Amino acid sequence: MAKIIRSQRASTSSVRSAPKKKPAKAARLLPKRGAKKAAKKAAKRTVKPKPWTSEEVYEAFDRFRKANPEPKGELEHLNPYTLLVAVVLSAQATDAGVNKATRALFAVADTPEKMLELGEDRVRDYIKTIGLYRNKAKNVIALSQKLIAEFGGEVPRTRAEIESLPGAGRKTANVVLNMAFGEHTMAVDTHVFRVGNRTGLAPGKTPLEVELGLEKVIPTEFMLHAHHWLILHGRYTCLARGPRCDVCLINDLCRWPEKTV
Ligand code: SF4
Repeated sequence: MAKIIRSQRASTSSVRSAPKKKPAKAARLLPKRGAKKAAKKAAKRTVKPKPWTSEEVYEAFDRFRKANPEPKGELEHLNPYTLLVAVVLSAQATDAGVNKATRALFAVADTPEKMLELGEDRVRDYIKTIGLYRNKAKNVIALSQKLIAEFGGEVPRTRAEIESLPGAGRKTANVVLNMAFGEHTMAVDTHVFRVGNRTGLAPGKTPLEVELGLEKVIPTEFMLHAHHWLILHGRYTCLARGPRCDVCLINDLCRWPEKTV
């Protein structure tokens, strides 16, 4: 009997103290699948890119200018008022989608007065292919009323006044001031935000940070068109997914660690 107990204890302790089998040396040296890649990516992310020199910024915009001396926005409009309406309608929508709806709308209503005559229900019908169209139709009518009541039916020329209009924010004011009145403003949409951050030209956590950063580094002589160059660059070259770094005009200057050239 005593013999049996001894042999049971021995067997339990042998299980507890059995040394864990070590993986072969070669296997221990191999990183876990994907770990090496992830570590490399994380390291890249934590390295702050070197800021652009003023010569590099000049060079980049000089190349943009040579490639496209007179860049144009893609939102169709007939005058400052229709530009304002188009920008208000473009929130969370594509320029192409907005143009499709506004071609017919602006043919019948290209002033605040005509828009009010048309009325909210009909405006809604014209723009129903655009996201958030119910709210946007309300805003178009309300901003038209305010333009007539407070600004003599004209689009005002200051940022604060434009921002006071229903549906218009800082980006709208910047686009209108730049495109309708030739001011050196920088409207930051999703494309400009991405390009500013990726390239390292003006990194920022918010559109306002990127806007102010870009205004600080871009030489005055490029500011009238800088907004369009950056939008077009983001829309057609520095795409959100799969940026076309191989054909990018500024690929040697870009600071993005993940650029593909
Ligand atoms: S190199 Fe690539 S990531 Fe950098 S700006 Fe050009 S397209 Fe964008």
